[in-house]
Amino acid sequence: MSEKMQVEAINRGTVIDHIPAGQGLKIVNRLQLLDNKVRLTVGFNLLSGELGTKDLIKVDDWLFTESEANELALFAPNATVNIIDDYKVVRKINVTLPTELINVFPCPNSNCITRVEPVSSKFRIRQLGHKIQLKCHYCEKAFDKEIFTEN
Ligand SMILES: [Zn+2]
Repeated sequence: MSEKMQVEAINRGTVIDHIPAGQGLKIVNRLQLLDNKVRLTVGFNLLSGELGTKDLIKVDDWLFTESEANELALFAPNATVNIIDDYKVVRKINVTLPTELINVFPCPNSNCITRVEPVSSKFRIRQLGHKIQLKCHYCEKAFDKEIFTEN
């Protein structure tokens, strides 16, 4: 199947393309794409001219906003998010690292207030050289992004 057909095989929704192979399942798990009865098609280790292999996720009937797309940046900094309507790409979003993430990941600190109170987690993201850290707004602890993206 050609890459073009893979992208076009959706009527309306979002296609997340150019995910590094191996990160697709982590994105599905971590971003809770399986909630709300979301209809997903996931391709693993698809052939890609640029990357060798890649993962691809198609989400039916959910048009990602730019901030939803940017939540992917920790996993797939070079992902392309295609917004599809009537079988056409109506918008292409190149993900960029957001400055903060709200209610995406739970705080890894078990003593954090967000673990006991019904508040949304909130992290500020900062880049220190090649290192990306998430700093919790509540307990003020900083965590390397790998804590969230590696298993
Ligand atoms: Zn915290």
